[in-house]
Formats: sequence, C-alpha cells, structure tokens
Amino acid sequence: MLVRRLRFPKTLSTCSIQASDIHTQHYDVIVVGGGHAGTEAVAAASRVGAKTLLITQKIQTIGALSCNPSLGGVGKGHLVKEIDALDGVMGRAGDWAGVHFSILNRSKGPAVWGPRTQLDRQRYKDFIQSELLSTPRVTILEGSVQDLLFTTADPEKPGRHKVYGIRLAHGGGEIHSRSVVLTTGTFLSGALFIGQNTSPGGRMADPPSCAGLSHTLKEVLGLKVGRLRTGTPPRIIKDTIDFSLTLIRLPDPSPTPFSFMNTHTHCKPEEQLPCYLTYTTPGVERVVKESSHHNSHIQQDTKGPRYCPSIESKVLRFPGRQHQVWLEPEGLTSDLMYPQGLSMTMPPEKQLCLIREIPGLQRAKICTPGYGVQYDFVCPTQLFPWLQVKSTQGLFLAGQINGTTGYEEAAAQGLWAGVNAGRTSLSKPPVSLSRTQSYIGVLIDDLIGRGVTEPYRMFTSRAEFRTALRPDNADLRLTLRGFEELGCVSEQRYNEALRVQVSLNDALSALKSIHLSASRWKDKLGDVNISETKSSILNGVEVLQYKDVSLQMLASAFPELAGLYLEFSERLKVEAIYRPHCEKQRKEIERMQAEESLYLPEDIDYLTLPVSLSQEVREILDSVRPSTLGAAARLSGITPAAIVHLFNYVHRNK
Ligand code: FAD
Repeated sequence: MLVRRLRFPKTLSTCSIQASDIHTQHYDVIVVGGGHAGTEAVAAASRVGAKTLLITQKIQTIGALSCNPSLGGVGKGHLVKEIDALDGVMGRAGDWAGVHFSILNRSKGPAVWGPRTQLDRQRYKDFIQSELLSTPRVTILEGSVQDLLFTTADPEKPGRHKVYGIRLAHGGGEIHSRSVVLTTGTFLSGALFIGQNTSPGGRMADPPSCAGLSHTLKEVLGLKVGRLRTGTPPRIIKDTIDFSLTLIRLPDPSPTPFSFMNTHTHCKPEEQLPCYLTYTTPGVERVVKESSHHNSHIQQDTKGPRYCPSIESKVLRFPGRQHQVWLEPEGLTSDLMYPQGLSMTMPPEKQLCLIREIPGLQRAKICTPGYGVQYDFVCPTQLFPWLQVKSTQGLFLAGQINGTTGYEEAAAQGLWAGVNAGRTSLSKPPVSLSRTQSYIGVLIDDLIGRGVTEPYRMFTSRAEFRTALRPDNADLRLTLRGFEELGCVSEQRYNEALRVQVSLNDALSALKSIHLSASRWKDKLGDVNISETKSSILNGVEVLQYKDVSLQMLASAFPELAGLYLEFSERLKVEAIYRPHCEKQRKEIERMQAEESLYLPEDIDYLTLPVSLSQEVREILDSVRPSTLGAAARLSGITPAAIVHLFNYVHRNK
C-alpha cells in the first residue's frame, strides 16, 4: 500500500522570490490576488503546464483567512474534498493546520455529512505559501495590479476584447501573458466600516484594489458590476473568558483528514482543541438597538451574507430570540478566540459593551474590533462555464469577485479558472464541469446561470444529485478525469485513485457473488435485523445496506471474499447504502448530461429566433445568454416546451 505522508517543504522566510527579470518574461498565466481563489488558480495553472505568475499586494498575506479560522462544513466540506480530488492545495493545508476536526450533520446520511475543521491561522497560511513556493513553473511577485492590457477586435462580436497582460501600479511597468485570472476578493473598490467611520480598504490593514481595475471592468470592458458587503467579529483575548459559564464542544476523537492522500492529520487526536458554546442575552439586543444610529454599515442597502449575518441584522430581524455564539480557537498557540456569530460593525466601545452582555464574556477584552467591508463584484452571468469573461478572451474571474462568500467557494472557482486559463494559454480547449458530476459544477452553474443578488454560499440542498455527489467519492468522480483529460492531477494521486477504484469494484463484485436467503444471513451474521419479506434471496451488497450490518461482520463470515477489503469498510458501507438511489437517478443524470453537452451558439439572436418562443422566454434568454441547453433549462421562467424548440433549432443548424 502507498505510504502517504503530510509534507511541509519550505517557508517564505527561508525562500527568496526572484523578481529581477520579471518584465522581460512572457507568462502563460498571470493570477492577480493571493487569497483562496488566487492560490488555487496559480497551483492549478502550473499543474496543467502553464508558466504562471502570481501578483499579490502582500506576500505575507498569501493564503490569509480574512475572517473565521475554519474550513469545510455542510456543503463547503464537499467543495474541499473535490478541490483535493483535483489535486488542489486546500484540503492538504486543512489537514496540516486543523486543530479541531469534526464531521457535521452526522445524524443525517453520509451524502450530506460536512467535514469541518478549526484552523491554526498561521499554520494554514504557512502551508499555502510553502506549497506555492515549491510548485514548479510558479513565480510570485509582490505588487499591485493597476490595470489590464487588452486589444479590441470587433466591437460587434462577443469575445471582442483580448487580454495580453497587466500594468502594475506605481509605475511598475507592464507584464505580458496569454491569460489573466482576477481574484481580487473583497478588494475591488473595497471600503471598511466601523461605527460611523468609513475608510478605503479590502481588509483591515490592507488597501483596496487600484481604482483603475474597477474602472476598466465597468467602463471599458462594459461589465455589469454590483456591490455586496460582509463583516467580521471582534477577536477576544482568551485569558479574559470564563469558560466555566459556557458549554464545551469536543472534536471527533479520531480526526478525519480532508485529503484523499492523507491517512492522518498533522494535529494528533489528543492535541486537538475544544470549542465553546454560549448564547446572546436581552442585553445584547439592547446594545444593538442603542448603537444602531452609530453604525453606518447596517444602514446601507447593500446586500450582506444571508447565512452568516451580523449580530445587528440577527437581532433586528428576530427580536427576543437567543442566538448561538461559538468561541473558537484561532490556533494552537494563539491567545485569541474567534466568537462565531458576533460579526459586528458598531463603534469599538459599543462592541465591548455588547460582548460583556454574554455569559462567559462579562470580563472579556477585545484585541481587535469587528468591522464590515463593502466591495464590487462582477455579475457572474457574464462568464462562460470555464469562468472566462464572455466578452474578453483570456480574462478569467474567480472567487469573491464573482459574488460568492467563503474560502471554499473561492478556492473551487480558483482551481477551475486556473485549469482553464492554463489550458487556454497552451492552446487547449476549455473544459467545464457538470452539476451532475460535482459541487464545483453546481456552484459554477448556479453563478453563471442564475447570477447572484446576495453573497452566494454552498449548501447540499443546491445539488439535485447529492446522493451521487458525496464527500467520500469525490476522488472517483474527479481524480481520474483530472489526470486523463484535464492534466491537473499528479500521477501519484491518479495511481492511488485507480487502486481505490479497482479495489472497490472488486469488493462489490465479491459481495454480490454471495447469495443467501434472509434467514441464512441471520444465521451467518448473528442477531441482525434483516427483513425477510423484502426479497427471498439477498446478495452481500444488499445485506450491507442494512443499518446493523458492517463489512467487518461480512468479513468474519466470509473471510476469503470480504476480508480482503477491510481497508474500505466505511466507503463500501456508504456505497451500498446509496447504490439503489444512484441507480434510480442515472437516467435523469444522463438526460442532464446530454443537455449540458449541447452548447448554444454565442451569437444566437433570441429576440428574432424563428421558433415558437414567447416574448418573455426570448427576453430571459437574451438577457442571461446561457452557454448550454442545460443552463437554459434551469432558468426560472423557461418552459420545457421552449427547451424542446431550442434543442430542435440548435440541432437543425449544427
Ligand atoms: P481574498 O481572500 O479577499 O483575496 C484577495 C487577494 O487579492 C488578496 O490577497 C489581495 O491582496 C489581492 N489583491 C486584490 N486586488 C489586487 C490587486 N489589484 N493587485 C494585486 N493583488 C490584489 N466569508 C465567509 O464565508 N463568511 C464570513 O463571515 C466572511 N466574513 C468576512 C469578513 C471580512 C471583513 C472579509 C474581508 C471577508 C469575509 N469573508 C467571509 C470572505 C472570505 O474572506 C472570502 O470569501 C474569501 O477570502 C475570498 O477569497 P478570494 O480569494 O476571492 O479573495
């Protein structure tokens, strides 16, 4: 069996960045921004073979966690597993830096379990930085990108602009490339809010993105841009918290790694840190109401994250309710705690009054106050499924700039934009991921098909085929394609995924070859609850679907058949449980895949198309301009009849 180890090669402090000949070089891909989208984009572009330059405002903030020190959760954990399956960095960084691992949603089926970990902030950043520094074909430059360089061909046609590089701020000159990936996060026209003070910024202590970039996107490239907001809580000094007044939440006794290549996490089970739960009181509501006229962030109309709202919006929307506050460690040696659920933008002195109304925090001290940020995002309906801007060849967007919120959503898009920017630069065709194959496909399809009106975050409920898109099988869904077709997966990972695939198939065949009646199964396995009415004869996979039956039990009864596969006992159990659901869904998945593979021509004129479509349908199609028939079918207001007419039209005119 393959020996898998956690690896941590170099740190930034021990590596120098070679920037001396940067302007004379021509890059395949330039990635702007070293956040979660940018770092995955750089790594992915280089994996597909592109010579890649990362330009970011501050090297020391590459991989910084702007808000909560945690990774994964319900839906988000699926994204981390898929990023890992495509050989991304995030899952391995989480395994290295995690300090409190747990699987959320365990009371539900494994398809919707949410792998999650609290992170050590510094360790996470260190891992990402060291990983990028040891990635071949990657150069890192500290600097600010002021503008894009592009040519304009035919103003009448889509794809009329073509990017060929960037211009650095402060007279730093031009750098040329075949494609550019913008991952500017919360920095585009970013403004920070505390109380009634507003200042330009993308994050505390970081300036916003240069104004030239926003101007070019809006005014020159003509992209539709909107405005969103988010916020972060104050950080609390750990020693000032009375944990005896809170409820302790321990991590899982045996931490489950995110990465398919890791058998264990860096933090040993006994070294993991607990989290603590406390609740808001009526005093919190009073402070929010008293300070609301000193709080300009909440007075704005700009949409904030609905699923991660500020304490001000929770209290004002649901008066009289108690709200959870999780006190989460910021790291193994950090003296700070992160109060999840207390994002706020009131003046700092009011923030102190508010937290002191909470059990356990009556004597707490704040190290840094909470604040809000407002920023521009580009409406993502203007993107192709490969995250390239429709009107501008070679320009890709990923992360918060596309209207999402969260590290995992950003990283997933970054990876996909990086793969495609790399491929485009190497003259390979772009690739897309269907929502039948992955949560990354669901995320991108939702963004480009429906757009966003508030910060978008991932949930399992967004995936219609969630019994097939499970965290446990992300490797089988994506790693093989990632190596064979996309070129973004290493041979080592590919061989491991192949080994797993072959073993699981062999195990399922072996189990299916055992046929017994229900009563014989009961004799063999002992006192287990197997229904005798369901079927007179059951095979080993059907028996494994029963709650009380484990692979270990089958292995004891049939050591020569099932005993060989104990390494995969959990995966086989999940596989067996979901097999009937997945088989039922196969037809629906095939139909959707056929629709996804039918591309709608970019220059199609929906308003005059000679087919029977209502004016309303024409206008919806004209405004969204879906890339595929599948994307058109999911638009609200588009009827099944309209899809049939479109299908026939496209087929006739192929
Ligand atoms: P970021 O992580 O923001 O990274 C952007 C990078 O681009 C930075 O490194 C920046 O220096 C660089 N950059 C920008 N412009 C330029 C330029 N012109 N030239 C060079 N480099 C440039 N998410 C949640 O899920 N829940 C929350 O509650 C939450 N709260 C947040 C609160 C605050 C105050 C902030 C700032 C963010 C919050 N987030 C929250 C969002 C989370 O941080 C982002 O979703 C995630 O970091 C987005 O990743 P990204 O890679 O798109 O951008």
